Amino acid sequence: MKAQPATPPGTVTRNACKVCAPLGACVVFSGIEDCVPFLHGSQGCATYIRRYLISHFREPVDIASSSFSEEDTIFGGARNLRAGLANVTTQYGPRAIGVATTCLAETIGEDVPRILAGHAADSPGGPALIHVPAPAYAGTHTDGFHRAVRRVVEHFAAPCTPHAGVNLLPGFLSPEDLRHLKELVAAFGLACTLLPDYSDTLDGAAWAEYLRGQPGGTSLEALQRMSGARSTLELGRTPGADRDTAAAWLETHHQVPRIPLGLPVGLRETDAFIAALETLSGAACPADIQRERGRLVDSFVDGHKYVFGRRAALFGDPDLVIGLASLLDEIGVRPVLCATGARHQAFAPAVQAALDHADPTDLRILTGADHASISEAARELRPDLVLAGSKGYPLARELGVPLIRVGFPIHDRIGGQRLLHVGYRGAQRLFDQLVNTLLERRQDTSETGYSYL
Ligand code: SF4
Repeated sequence: MKAQPATPPGTVTRNACKVCAPLGACVVFSGIEDCVPFLHGSQGCATYIRRYLISHFREPVDIASSSFSEEDTIFGGARNLRAGLANVTTQYGPRAIGVATTCLAETIGEDVPRILAGHAADSPGGPALIHVPAPAYAGTHTDGFHRAVRRVVEHFAAPCTPHAGVNLLPGFLSPEDLRHLKELVAAFGLACTLLPDYSDTLDGAAWAEYLRGQPGGTSLEALQRMSGARSTLELGRTPGADRDTAAAWLETHHQVPRIPLGLPVGLRETDAFIAALETLSGAACPADIQRERGRLVDSFVDGHKYVFGRRAALFGDPDLVIGLASLLDEIGVRPVLCATGARHQAFAPAVQAALDHADPTDLRILTGADHASISEAARELRPDLVLAGSKGYPLARELGVPLIRVGFPIHDRIGGQRLLHVGYRGAQRLFDQLVNTLLERRQDTSETGYSYL
């Protein structure tokens, strides 16, 4: 089966199933120590993205803006950009500023590398200035995320003495996922540079006093040493499918071997991740992780009768959808609709490869989808449940089926930043939630309200 474009070329997007690229870049810059995200464009871009991130992560998120006016749109925004960089340097004293250019600056063809070089030459000793072009019409928030990761690596990774550490490029996951990945890598005795690491900066502890920036993030020193790592683990099938990633750049320019893997969501993909850690470390999987795996398999047996044959619609970020499809396939749930707002040729083959038990006549895969096209497909396919971010709520409500909230954004519940998707532990959490959600629905709609199911 081929992926179907959700809307023919030339038609409008109706309720986008994606966010704009600068948002992904801002998340990456938020995960670097002492780095301030900065949007070169109109004020509204920064306000919208800040609002969007704050209501998911429930943390203060500072994003500076060059605040284009009508005049800047015609004559260029260099003056604003340089004034903004000077202000941010004075106010925050950062070691780095991540500048993402938004639709407006890209459309007028602003020569941002030249402006940044001029500013750096006039302000020696100032923060490192990283530029990532991120117009929303050239990709989604996940594209902006991966592009920013590559730009950060290109900017900082310098020739260095080879060392035993590994690089881990996790993709756009929750802070809880990042914490668990670090825990897993550490369990094998491996030193790791995680990029980005917003596990604290976007899910921090309460402050005793006001701080200008959130403590935490990948240090600039660690970024510089990425070129000497023994390998780079790159998670996610869609960035891994092209050679334009940070891991590919490190391999080409610094001979750091690249290990592309799927997101470790579900049993099989986590097994692959753990196997890679075993190979890299030369150590066997620790007993407590093996027991976690054993409990997960045992729970699959316990809960199988409640979920087998159920139909699921899932949509959101491409790699999370691929990982969740794999998990659902393992537990006997049939993903009948797998959709993403991103346009990736690798998406459909990766979904199909994740499904051993799918009926191709009863499976719809949509790329470049909006919520209107997803809803139209779901009305035909009649799923028993929906897995998506909070944008899936109207559809689940219309269909009268439960919504299992996953990924990003989660705007109608708290704790989106603490959702765990990865590892055996993440699969356990998702499986228990899925089974219990279906049981709850059965119980609530039963005439007698059995308490023994
Ligand atoms: S779509 Fe473009 S103009 Fe609109 S908020 Fe995103 S970056 Fe800014």
